[in-house]
Amino acid sequence: MSYEDNDNKNWLKGSLALRITKEGLRDLVDGDSRSIQHRIHLSVIQARNLSPGTTCCQCLTENLFQCPTSGLCSHPRNNCKFHDTPVKGYRSCPSHICDDLRDEICRLHKFGGPSWKNSNADRWCVNHWEIAKCFMPLGGYKDVCSFDQTDYNGVINILINCTAFQQKLSFKVDTVTNILTQARDIGRSIRHSSDLKVTDADLNCYITTMTTLLSDPKYLSRDRKAQEAVLKLNKADTLYISNEDVHEILDEARIVVETGKHQIEQAVTEGKHIIETGKAEIEQAVTEGKHIIETGKTEIEQAVTEGKHAIETGKAEIEQTVTEGKHAIETGKAEIEHAVTEGEHIIETGKEDIAQAVTEGEHALKTGKGQLESSVIEGVKILQFEADNAVVKVSKQIHTDVLVPAENRFEEKVQARLKALKQIIQDTTDIGEREIYSRTSEGIEALDEAVFEAMRKISVSTAEREEGNIHYILVYKITFSALMK
Ligand SMILES: [Zn+2]
Ligand SMILES: [Zn+2]
Repeated sequence: MSYEDNDNKNWLKGSLALRITKEGLRDLVDGDSRSIQHRIHLSVIQARNLSPGTTCCQCLTENLFQCPTSGLCSHPRNNCKFHDTPVKGYRSCPSHICDDLRDEICRLHKFGGPSWKNSNADRWCVNHWEIAKCFMPLGGYKDVCSFDQTDYNGVINILINCTAFQQKLSFKVDTVTNILTQARDIGRSIRHSSDLKVTDADLNCYITTMTTLLSDPKYLSRDRKAQEAVLKLNKADTLYISNEDVHEILDEARIVVETGKHQIEQAVTEGKHIIETGKAEIEQAVTEGKHIIETGKTEIEQAVTEGKHAIETGKAEIEQTVTEGKHAIETGKAEIEHAVTEGEHIIETGKEDIAQAVTEGEHALKTGKGQLESSVIEGVKILQFEADNAVVKVSKQIHTDVLVPAENRFEEKVQARLKALKQIIQDTTDIGEREIYSRTSEGIEALDEAVFEAMRKISVSTAEREEGNIHYILVYKITFSALMK
Protein backbone atom coordinates (compact mmCIF):
# COMPACT_ATOMS: atom_id res chain seq x y z
CA MET A 1 0.00 0.00 0.00
CA SER A 2 1.48 3.33 -1.01
CA TYR A 3 1.75 6.34 1.30
CA GLU A 4 -0.84 8.16 -0.80
CA ASP A 5 -3.21 5.23 -0.65
CA ASN A 6 -2.91 5.23 3.13
CA ASP A 7 -3.79 8.92 3.40
CA ASN A 8 -6.77 8.40 1.12
CA LYS A 9 -7.80 5.50 3.31
CA ASN A 10 -7.40 7.77 6.35
CA TRP A 11 -9.66 10.34 4.71
CA LEU A 12 -12.29 7.63 4.23
CA LYS A 13 -11.80 6.54 7.86
CA GLY A 14 -12.13 10.15 8.98
CA SER A 15 -15.35 10.54 7.00
CA LEU A 16 -16.65 7.34 8.51
CA ALA A 17 -15.67 8.62 11.98
CA LEU A 18 -17.78 11.75 11.39
CA ARG A 19 -20.77 9.54 10.55
CA ILE A 20 -20.16 7.38 13.64
CA THR A 21 -19.86 10.46 15.86
CA LYS A 22 -23.05 12.00 14.47
CA GLU A 23 -24.89 8.74 15.17
CA GLY A 24 -23.47 8.77 18.71
CA LEU A 25 -25.00 12.21 19.27
CA ARG A 26 -28.48 11.09 18.13
CA ASP A 27 -30.10 10.66 21.55
CA LEU A 28 -28.71 13.91 22.87
CA VAL A 29 -29.36 16.15 19.85
CA ASP A 30 -32.51 14.65 18.36
CA GLY A 31 -34.00 13.75 21.74
CA ASP A 32 -33.33 17.11 23.38
CA SER A 33 -34.37 19.09 20.30
CA ARG A 34 -37.71 17.35 20.62
CA SER A 35 -38.08 18.20 24.32
CA ILE A 36 -36.91 21.80 23.73
CA GLN A 37 -39.55 22.25 21.01
CA HIS A 38 -42.17 20.71 23.28
CA ARG A 39 -41.15 22.92 26.21
CA ILE A 40 -41.15 26.25 24.39
CA HIS A 41 -44.40 25.45 22.56
CA LEU A 42 -46.04 24.64 25.90
CA SER A 43 -44.68 27.76 27.61
CA VAL A 44 -45.96 29.99 24.79
CA ILE A 45 -49.41 28.40 24.94
CA GLN A 46 -49.60 28.68 28.72
CA ALA A 47 -48.41 32.28 28.70
CA ARG A 48 -51.18 33.15 26.24
CA ASN A 49 -53.82 31.07 28.09
CA LEU A 50 -54.49 29.02 24.95
CA SER A 51 -56.03 25.56 25.17
CA PRO A 52 -53.43 22.76 25.40
CA GLY A 53 -52.23 21.44 22.06
CA THR A 54 -53.11 24.61 20.13
CA THR A 55 -50.93 24.84 17.03
CA CYS A 56 -50.47 27.24 14.13
CA CYS A 57 -49.46 26.08 10.67
CA GLN A 58 -50.28 29.33 8.91
CA CYS A 59 -47.21 31.46 9.45
CA LEU A 60 -44.39 31.39 6.96
CA THR A 61 -40.97 32.36 8.28
CA GLU A 62 -41.21 35.47 6.09
CA ASN A 63 -44.46 36.54 7.81
CA LEU A 64 -42.67 36.79 11.16
CA PHE A 65 -40.08 39.36 10.12
CA GLN A 66 -40.41 42.95 9.12
CA CYS A 67 -38.82 44.06 5.90
CA PRO A 68 -35.99 44.98 6.08
CA THR A 69 -34.49 42.93 8.95
CA SER A 70 -30.75 43.11 9.42
CA GLY A 71 -29.04 39.83 8.52
CA LEU A 72 -32.17 38.44 6.93
CA CYS A 73 -33.21 40.86 4.25
CA SER A 74 -31.43 44.14 3.83
CA HIS A 75 -32.93 45.13 0.53
CA PRO A 76 -35.57 47.81 0.43
CA ARG A 77 -39.17 46.68 0.35
CA ASN A 78 -39.71 47.06 -3.39
CA ASN A 79 -37.10 44.50 -4.41
CA CYS A 80 -36.56 42.35 -1.27
CA LYS A 81 -35.72 38.81 -2.38
CA PHE A 82 -36.90 37.36 0.94
CA HIS A 83 -40.29 39.08 1.01
CA ASP A 84 -40.82 38.72 -2.71
CA THR A 85 -44.62 38.17 -2.77
CA PRO A 86 -47.48 39.87 -0.88
CA VAL A 87 -48.26 36.51 0.85
CA LYS A 88 -44.79 36.65 2.46
CA GLY A 89 -45.34 40.13 3.90
CA TYR A 90 -44.89 40.81 7.60
CA ARG A 91 -47.91 40.20 9.84
CA SER A 92 -48.53 38.88 13.35
CA CYS A 93 -49.52 35.25 13.95
CA PRO A 94 -53.35 34.91 13.97
CA SER A 95 -53.09 32.34 16.81
CA HIS A 96 -50.56 34.44 18.84
CA ILE A 97 -48.08 31.53 18.87
CA CYS A 98 -45.48 31.92 16.15
CA ASP A 99 -44.28 35.42 17.16
CA ASP A 100 -43.67 34.13 20.69
CA LEU A 101 -41.95 30.96 19.39
CA ARG A 102 -39.70 33.18 17.26
CA ASP A 103 -38.73 35.17 20.35
CA GLU A 104 -38.12 31.98 22.38
CA ILE A 105 -35.87 30.51 19.64
CA CYS A 106 -34.00 33.80 19.50
CA ARG A 107 -33.46 33.70 23.28
CA LEU A 108 -32.03 30.16 23.03
CA HIS A 109 -29.51 31.12 20.34
CA LYS A 110 -26.01 31.71 21.67
CA PHE A 111 -25.55 34.84 19.56
CA GLY A 112 -29.23 35.84 19.33
CA GLY A 113 -29.12 35.26 15.56
CA PRO A 114 -30.89 32.05 14.54
CA SER A 115 -30.61 30.94 10.90
CA TRP A 116 -34.21 31.81 10.07
CA LYS A 117 -33.68 31.12 6.36
CA ASN A 118 -33.04 27.42 7.16
CA SER A 119 -36.37 27.03 8.89
CA ASN A 120 -40.04 26.70 7.95
CA ALA A 121 -41.95 28.48 10.71
CA ASP A 122 -45.27 26.97 9.61
CA ARG A 123 -44.02 23.66 11.09
CA TRP A 124 -42.55 24.96 14.36
CA CYS A 125 -45.56 23.68 16.30
CA VAL A 126 -45.35 20.15 14.90
CA ASN A 127 -41.73 19.43 13.88
CA HIS A 128 -38.91 19.87 16.38
CA TRP A 129 -36.31 19.68 13.59
CA GLU A 130 -37.59 22.92 12.05
CA ILE A 131 -36.62 24.63 15.30
CA ALA A 132 -33.32 22.70 15.53
CA LYS A 133 -32.43 23.96 12.03
CA CYS A 134 -32.43 27.54 13.34
CA PHE A 135 -29.19 26.63 15.18
CA MET A 136 -27.42 25.17 12.12
CA PRO A 137 -25.24 27.22 9.77
CA LEU A 138 -26.98 29.08 6.97
CA GLY A 139 -27.40 27.33 3.65
CA GLY A 140 -28.18 23.77 2.60
CA TYR A 141 -30.65 22.91 5.37
CA LYS A 142 -33.90 24.51 4.16
CA ASP A 143 -35.29 21.22 2.79
CA VAL A 144 -33.81 18.94 5.47
CA CYS A 145 -36.57 17.47 7.67
CA SER A 146 -34.88 15.18 10.22
CA PHE A 147 -31.76 14.20 12.16
CA ASP A 148 -31.04 11.50 9.54
CA GLN A 149 -31.12 13.98 6.70
CA THR A 150 -28.76 16.34 8.52
CA ASP A 151 -24.97 16.11 8.20
CA TYR A 152 -22.37 16.04 10.97
CA ASN A 153 -21.71 19.77 10.70
CA GLY A 154 -25.40 20.65 11.18
CA VAL A 155 -25.63 18.43 14.27
CA ILE A 156 -22.44 19.80 15.89
CA ASN A 157 -23.65 23.37 15.28
CA ILE A 158 -26.92 22.72 17.13
CA LEU A 159 -24.84 21.79 20.20
CA ILE A 160 -22.68 24.90 19.79
CA ASN A 161 -25.42 27.45 19.10
CA CYS A 162 -28.37 26.26 21.20
CA THR A 163 -27.74 27.29 24.81
CA ALA A 164 -30.24 24.71 26.11
CA PHE A 165 -27.60 21.99 25.58
CA GLN A 166 -25.13 23.56 27.98
CA GLN A 167 -26.79 21.74 30.91
CA LYS A 168 -25.95 18.38 29.25
CA LEU A 169 -22.26 19.21 28.79
CA SER A 170 -19.49 19.36 31.42
CA PHE A 171 -17.42 22.06 29.62
CA LYS A 172 -18.26 25.69 28.83
CA VAL A 173 -19.58 25.95 25.29
CA ASP A 174 -19.33 29.76 25.18
CA THR A 175 -15.51 29.79 25.29
CA VAL A 176 -13.78 30.49 22.01
CA THR A 177 -12.23 27.03 21.73
CA ASN A 178 -13.82 23.92 23.23
CA ILE A 179 -14.29 20.27 22.31
CA LEU A 180 -17.33 21.12 20.18
CA THR A 181 -15.55 23.79 18.14
CA GLN A 182 -12.66 21.34 17.69
CA ALA A 183 -15.12 18.67 16.52
CA ARG A 184 -16.64 21.22 14.12
CA ASP A 185 -13.20 22.08 12.71
CA ILE A 186 -12.46 18.36 12.13
CA GLY A 187 -15.59 18.12 9.98
CA ARG A 188 -14.47 21.15 7.98
CA SER A 189 -10.97 19.76 7.44
CA ILE A 190 -12.26 16.45 6.18
CA ARG A 191 -14.97 17.92 3.98
CA HIS A 192 -12.75 20.56 2.49
CA SER A 193 -9.73 18.32 1.85
CA SER A 194 -9.18 18.91 -1.85
CA ASP A 195 -7.00 15.79 -2.34
CA LEU A 196 -9.16 13.59 -0.06
CA LYS A 197 -6.16 12.84 2.16
CA VAL A 198 -5.67 12.72 5.95
CA THR A 199 -2.39 11.84 7.70
CA ASP A 200 -2.15 9.15 10.38
CA ALA A 201 -1.34 11.78 13.01
CA ASP A 202 -4.35 13.92 12.07
CA LEU A 203 -6.65 10.91 12.01
CA ASN A 204 -5.52 9.88 15.52
CA CYS A 205 -6.03 13.43 16.74
CA TYR A 206 -9.52 13.55 15.20
CA ILE A 207 -10.54 10.25 16.76
CA THR A 208 -9.27 11.34 20.20
CA THR A 209 -11.30 14.55 20.06
CA MET A 210 -14.47 12.72 18.94
CA THR A 211 -14.01 10.09 21.65
CA THR A 212 -13.54 12.81 24.28
CA LEU A 213 -16.73 14.51 23.15
CA LEU A 214 -18.72 11.25 23.20
CA SER A 215 -17.38 10.40 26.67
CA ASP A 216 -18.35 13.71 28.25
CA PRO A 217 -19.21 12.87 31.88
CA LYS A 218 -22.26 15.12 32.21
CA TYR A 219 -24.54 13.03 30.01
CA LEU A 220 -22.92 11.32 27.00
CA SER A 221 -20.71 8.94 29.04
CA ARG A 222 -23.94 7.25 30.18
CA ASP A 223 -25.76 7.41 26.83
CA ARG A 224 -26.03 4.10 24.96
CA LYS A 225 -25.77 5.61 21.45
CA ALA A 226 -22.70 7.64 22.42
CA GLN A 227 -20.96 4.62 23.97
CA GLU A 228 -21.65 2.45 20.93
CA ALA A 229 -20.00 5.17 18.84
CA VAL A 230 -16.97 5.30 21.17
CA LEU A 231 -16.50 1.52 20.76
CA LYS A 232 -16.63 1.86 16.96
CA LEU A 233 -14.19 4.80 16.96
CA ASN A 234 -11.69 2.87 19.09
CA LYS A 235 -11.62 0.17 16.42
CA ALA A 236 -10.89 2.79 13.77
CA ASP A 237 -7.48 1.32 13.03
CA THR A 238 -9.12 -1.85 11.95
CA LEU A 239 -12.20 -0.15 10.57
CA TYR A 240 -13.69 -2.15 7.83
CA ILE A 241 -15.00 0.18 5.17
CA SER A 242 -17.78 -1.48 3.26
CA ASN A 243 -18.91 -0.59 -0.23
CA GLU A 244 -22.03 0.80 1.39
CA ASP A 245 -19.94 3.13 3.60
CA VAL A 246 -17.98 4.35 0.61
CA HIS A 247 -21.19 4.89 -1.29
CA GLU A 248 -22.74 6.88 1.58
CA ILE A 249 -19.62 8.93 2.17
CA LEU A 250 -19.43 9.77 -1.52
CA ASP A 251 -23.12 10.59 -1.43
CA GLU A 252 -22.51 13.01 1.45
CA ALA A 253 -19.62 14.54 -0.43
CA ARG A 254 -21.87 14.93 -3.45
CA ILE A 255 -24.51 16.67 -1.32
CA VAL A 256 -21.83 19.01 -0.01
CA VAL A 257 -20.72 19.73 -3.56
CA GLU A 258 -24.29 20.23 -4.75
CA THR A 259 -25.16 22.46 -1.82
CA GLY A 260 -22.05 24.46 -2.63
CA LYS A 261 -23.03 24.58 -6.28
CA HIS A 262 -26.52 25.70 -5.33
CA GLN A 263 -25.09 28.40 -3.06
CA ILE A 264 -22.74 29.51 -5.83
CA GLU A 265 -25.62 29.61 -8.31
CA GLN A 266 -27.69 31.59 -5.89
CA ALA A 267 -24.81 33.97 -5.29
CA VAL A 268 -24.34 34.33 -9.03
CA THR A 269 -28.04 35.06 -9.52
CA GLU A 270 -27.95 37.60 -6.69
CA GLY A 271 -24.72 39.01 -8.09
CA LYS A 272 -26.27 39.34 -11.55
CA HIS A 273 -29.23 41.12 -10.03
CA ILE A 274 -26.94 43.42 -8.13
CA ILE A 275 -24.86 44.06 -11.26
CA GLU A 276 -27.97 44.78 -13.31
CA THR A 277 -29.41 47.01 -10.64
CA GLY A 278 -26.02 48.67 -10.39
CA LYS A 279 -25.84 49.15 -14.16
CA ALA A 280 -29.27 50.73 -14.23
CA GLU A 281 -28.32 52.92 -11.29
CA ILE A 282 -25.06 53.95 -12.98
CA GLU A 283 -26.90 54.75 -16.21
CA GLN A 284 -29.40 56.79 -14.30
CA ALA A 285 -26.62 58.50 -12.40
CA VAL A 286 -24.82 59.29 -15.68
CA THR A 287 -28.04 60.70 -17.18
CA GLU A 288 -28.63 62.70 -14.03
CA GLY A 289 -25.00 63.78 -14.03
CA LYS A 290 -25.21 65.01 -17.62
CA HIS A 291 -28.32 66.96 -16.77
CA ILE A 292 -26.62 68.40 -13.72
CA ILE A 293 -23.57 69.36 -15.76
CA GLU A 294 -25.71 71.03 -18.43
CA THR A 295 -27.81 72.80 -15.86
CA GLY A 296 -24.60 73.76 -14.10
CA LYS A 297 -23.10 75.21 -17.28
CA THR A 298 -26.17 77.38 -17.87
CA GLU A 299 -26.15 78.42 -14.25
CA ILE A 300 -22.46 79.30 -14.38
CA GLU A 301 -22.95 81.38 -17.53
CA GLN A 302 -25.89 83.13 -15.94
CA ALA A 303 -23.89 83.63 -12.76
CA VAL A 304 -21.00 85.14 -14.75
CA THR A 305 -23.35 87.55 -16.55
CA GLU A 306 -25.03 88.41 -13.25
CA GLY A 307 -21.62 88.75 -11.63
CA LYS A 308 -20.41 91.21 -14.27
CA HIS A 309 -23.53 93.29 -13.82
CA ALA A 310 -23.17 93.06 -10.06
CA ILE A 311 -19.56 94.22 -10.25
CA GLU A 312 -20.47 97.23 -12.35
CA THR A 313 -23.45 98.04 -10.16
CA GLY A 314 -21.25 97.46 -7.17
CA LYS A 315 -18.63 99.94 -8.40
CA ALA A 316 -21.27 102.65 -8.89
CA GLU A 317 -22.76 101.79 -5.50
CA ILE A 318 -19.38 101.99 -3.81
CA GLU A 319 -18.69 105.42 -5.30
CA GLN A 320 -22.09 106.65 -4.22
CA THR A 321 -21.61 105.14 -0.80
CA VAL A 322 -18.24 106.87 -0.44
CA THR A 323 -19.78 110.23 -1.40
CA GLU A 324 -22.67 109.64 0.97
CA GLY A 325 -20.27 108.52 3.62
CA LYS A 326 -18.22 111.70 3.38
CA HIS A 327 -21.36 113.81 3.71
CA ALA A 328 -22.56 111.68 6.59
CA ILE A 329 -19.25 112.12 8.39
CA GLU A 330 -19.39 115.87 8.04
CA THR A 331 -23.04 116.02 9.11
CA GLY A 332 -22.16 113.70 11.95
CA LYS A 333 -19.36 115.94 13.17
CA ALA A 334 -21.70 118.96 13.22
CA GLU A 335 -24.34 116.91 15.01
CA ILE A 336 -21.85 115.73 17.59
CA GLU A 337 -20.72 119.30 18.33
CA HIS A 338 -24.33 120.43 18.66
CA ALA A 339 -25.08 117.48 20.86
CA VAL A 340 -22.10 118.32 23.10
CA THR A 341 -23.25 121.91 23.46
CA GLU A 342 -26.77 120.81 24.29
CA GLY A 343 -25.43 118.22 26.63
CA GLU A 344 -23.44 120.79 28.58
CA HIS A 345 -26.54 122.97 28.90
CA ILE A 346 -28.58 119.99 30.01
CA ILE A 347 -25.98 119.11 32.62
CA GLU A 348 -26.02 122.70 34.00
CA THR A 349 -29.78 122.80 34.10
CA GLY A 350 -29.82 119.34 35.61
CA LYS A 351 -27.43 120.41 38.39
CA GLU A 352 -29.68 123.34 39.29
CA ASP A 353 -32.75 121.12 39.19
CA ILE A 354 -31.09 118.65 41.49
CA ALA A 355 -30.08 121.36 43.96
CA GLN A 356 -33.62 122.73 43.99
CA ALA A 357 -35.06 119.26 44.33
CA VAL A 358 -32.80 118.64 47.32
CA THR A 359 -33.91 121.86 48.99
CA GLU A 360 -37.54 121.08 48.32
CA GLY A 361 -37.01 117.57 49.53
CA GLU A 362 -35.56 118.79 52.82
CA HIS A 363 -38.42 121.17 53.32
CA ALA A 364 -40.92 118.46 52.46
CA LEU A 365 -39.29 116.15 54.98
CA LYS A 366 -39.48 118.74 57.74
CA THR A 367 -43.09 119.64 56.93
CA GLY A 368 -43.90 115.96 56.67
CA LYS A 369 -42.40 115.29 60.07
CA GLY A 370 -44.44 118.13 61.63
CA GLN A 371 -47.58 116.91 59.97
CA LEU A 372 -46.93 113.40 61.06
CA GLU A 373 -46.43 114.44 64.68
CA SER A 374 -49.57 116.54 64.71
CA SER A 375 -51.49 113.74 63.05
CA VAL A 376 -50.34 111.36 65.74
CA ILE A 377 -51.40 113.71 68.56
CA GLU A 378 -54.72 114.38 66.82
CA GLY A 379 -55.20 110.67 66.27
CA VAL A 380 -54.53 109.87 69.90
CA LYS A 381 -57.03 112.52 70.98
CA ILE A 382 -59.65 111.20 68.63
CA LEU A 383 -59.06 107.68 69.79
CA GLN A 384 -59.35 108.64 73.45
CA PHE A 385 -62.50 110.61 72.86
CA GLU A 386 -64.03 107.82 70.87
CA ALA A 387 -63.05 105.29 73.45
CA ASP A 388 -64.65 107.35 76.26
CA ASN A 389 -67.68 107.94 74.18
CA ALA A 390 -67.95 104.28 73.42
CA VAL A 391 -67.68 103.38 77.12
CA VAL A 392 -70.46 105.84 77.98
CA LYS A 393 -72.58 104.57 75.15
CA VAL A 394 -72.06 100.98 76.13
CA SER A 395 -72.89 101.70 79.80
CA LYS A 396 -76.05 103.52 78.78
CA GLN A 397 -76.95 100.82 76.44
CA ILE A 398 -76.44 98.15 79.10
CA HIS A 399 -78.58 100.13 81.50
CA THR A 400 -81.33 100.70 78.95
CA ASP A 401 -81.24 97.34 77.24
CA VAL A 402 -80.40 95.00 80.05
CA LEU A 403 -80.74 96.32 83.58
CA VAL A 404 -83.96 98.34 83.31
CA PRO A 405 -85.90 95.72 81.44
CA ALA A 406 -84.63 93.12 83.87
CA GLU A 407 -85.72 95.19 86.89
CA ASN A 408 -89.03 95.97 85.29
CA ARG A 409 -89.62 92.39 84.42
CA PHE A 410 -88.78 91.28 87.96
CA GLU A 411 -91.08 93.91 89.45
CA GLU A 412 -93.88 92.96 87.07
CA LYS A 413 -93.42 89.31 87.94
CA VAL A 414 -93.55 89.99 91.68
CA GLN A 415 -96.61 92.23 91.32
CA ALA A 416 -98.37 89.66 89.16
CA ARG A 417 -97.53 86.92 91.64
CA LEU A 418 -98.82 89.01 94.52
CA LYS A 419 -101.96 89.87 92.62
CA ALA A 420 -102.55 86.24 91.75
CA LEU A 421 -101.92 85.21 95.35
CA LYS A 422 -104.24 87.93 96.64
CA GLN A 423 -106.90 86.79 94.21
CA ILE A 424 -106.43 83.15 95.27
CA ILE A 425 -106.64 84.15 98.93
CA GLN A 426 -109.67 86.36 98.22
CA ASP A 427 -111.34 83.59 96.19
CA THR A 428 -110.60 81.01 98.87
CA THR A 429 -111.80 83.31 101.60
CA ASP A 430 -115.03 84.08 99.69
CA ILE A 431 -115.64 80.41 99.04
CA GLY A 432 -114.90 79.62 102.71
CA GLU A 433 -117.18 82.38 103.89
CA ARG A 434 -119.93 81.24 101.56
CA GLU A 435 -119.52 77.66 102.68
CA ILE A 436 -119.46 78.61 106.36
CA TYR A 437 -122.48 80.74 105.82
CA SER A 438 -124.31 78.04 103.90
CA ARG A 439 -123.35 75.38 106.40
CA THR A 440 -124.37 77.57 109.25
CA SER A 441 -127.74 78.31 107.63
CA GLU A 442 -128.24 74.66 106.92
CA GLY A 443 -127.22 73.82 110.46
CA ILE A 444 -129.57 76.36 111.91
CA GLU A 445 -132.39 75.09 109.71
CA ALA A 446 -131.60 71.52 110.70
CA LEU A 447 -131.36 72.55 114.31
CA ASP A 448 -134.66 74.35 114.19
CA GLU A 449 -136.23 71.37 112.52
CA ALA A 450 -134.74 69.04 115.09
CA VAL A 451 -135.85 71.26 117.91
CA PHE A 452 -139.27 71.44 116.45
CA GLU A 453 -139.40 67.69 116.04
CA ALA A 454 -138.19 67.20 119.50
CA MET A 455 -140.74 69.57 120.90
CA ARG A 456 -143.45 67.77 118.99
CA LYS A 457 -142.24 64.48 120.41
CA ILE A 458 -142.16 66.02 123.86
CA SER A 459 -145.76 67.19 123.60
CA VAL A 460 -146.79 63.70 122.36
CA SER A 461 -146.24 62.12 125.74
CA THR A 462 -146.00 63.85 129.02
CA ALA A 463 -144.99 60.58 130.48
CA GLU A 464 -142.05 60.65 128.44
CA ARG A 465 -141.23 64.23 129.36
CA GLU A 466 -138.45 63.51 131.69
CA GLU A 467 -137.06 61.02 129.35
CA GLY A 468 -137.84 63.50 126.61
CA ASN A 469 -135.67 66.14 128.21
CA ILE A 470 -132.77 63.84 128.38
CA HIS A 471 -133.42 62.78 124.83
CA TYR A 472 -133.65 66.38 123.70
CA ILE A 473 -130.29 67.17 125.16
CA LEU A 474 -128.81 64.07 123.58
CA VAL A 475 -130.30 64.79 120.18
CA TYR A 476 -129.14 68.35 120.36
CA LYS A 477 -125.71 67.22 121.24
CA ILE A 478 -125.65 64.71 118.40
CA THR A 479 -126.99 67.17 115.88
CA PHE A 480 -124.56 69.84 116.95
CA SER A 481 -121.61 67.51 116.74
CA ALA A 482 -122.78 66.41 113.26
CA LEU A 483 -122.92 70.07 112.25
CA MET A 484 -119.45 70.73 113.45
CA LYS A 485 -117.86 67.96 111.38
ZN1 LIG B 1 -37.59 41.79 3.31
ZN1 LIG C 1 -48.73 31.44 13.47
